[in-house]
Amino acid sequence: MLTTDVENYPGFPKGILGPELMRLFRDQAARFGTKLIQQDVSAVDFSKRPFKITAEDKDYFARSVIISTGASANWLNISSEKALQGYGVSACATCDGFFFKGKEVAVVGGGDSAVEEATFLTKFATKVTIIHRRDALRASKIMQDRAFSNKKIDFIWNSTITDIKDPLEKKVTGIVLKNLKTGQTIEKKVDGVFMAIGHTPNSEIFKGQVELDVKGYVKVHDGTLTNVPGVFACGDAQDYKYRQAVTAAGTGCMAALDAERFLESGHA
Ligand code: NAP
Repeated sequence: MLTTDVENYPGFPKGILGPELMRLFRDQAARFGTKLIQQDVSAVDFSKRPFKITAEDKDYFARSVIISTGASANWLNISSEKALQGYGVSACATCDGFFFKGKEVAVVGGGDSAVEEATFLTKFATKVTIIHRRDALRASKIMQDRAFSNKKIDFIWNSTITDIKDPLEKKVTGIVLKNLKTGQTIEKKVDGVFMAIGHTPNSEIFKGQVELDVKGYVKVHDGTLTNVPGVFACGDAQDYKYRQAVTAAGTGCMAALDAERFLESGHA
């Protein structure tokens, strides 16, 4: 829902807008009789059967549940960043990199994602600057070596972005950087900014109900099975590695098959 053009979902050779793709998913599910209740879930109880799901003060009961709540990209939380999301500010190089052919971009972060996204972006951009808040990368050695030897990538250390220009023009024209050691502020011209400062899985409501890993991703085994029989998890709520619409849809299909098998087995 947050991305503008989706260029990498199969079946749409000319690309498609993110919200439009979601509308099509929804219409297709409705055609098969899916009932859609648009409410925020505030709590779940998987300790008893049937499982209980509480949404806006109403309880729903289910013999099987598929968790597909996704993950949210972390943002810097500066106001210009929000205004320019989809207009040059992105948290997904694979989704939006294509639009920066021949342009200069910045990538924020120092982990594997930042280095991977920066390396990917060099396919399109003329120059990629990694901006990191410390003076050493967190990324694995092999990824670091790849970035350091790439002539299109350079680095600005010990710095953070305090402002992105220019929401009034509805496009990214530059960034304001603050050096965290000296306090000095500089401006740099760029055409795009990619955030790679981690993701937070949307799993808060499942704490204590299913097993989560240290970062909060739902733990799965043998496909989409969680530690609670009858509860399955798919998409970015359980996957920090691939994080693509098409891989999320694929694991969604796996979870549906797993849930169907579970219900048919008579264990529910
Ligand atoms: P990560 O390892 O948590 O790194 C996040 C980076 O963002 C860190 O360098 C952190 O700085 C920085 N950061 C966090 N909050 C910030 C803020 N508010 N302002 C500025 N910088 C901020 O996240 P990730 O890179 O997305 O990786 C997540 C996991 O996926 C890792 O386990 C990673 O190994 C894995 N992964 C693997 C691959 C691969 O193997 N190809 C690719 C991508 C991801 P500090 O370093 O100062 O904390």
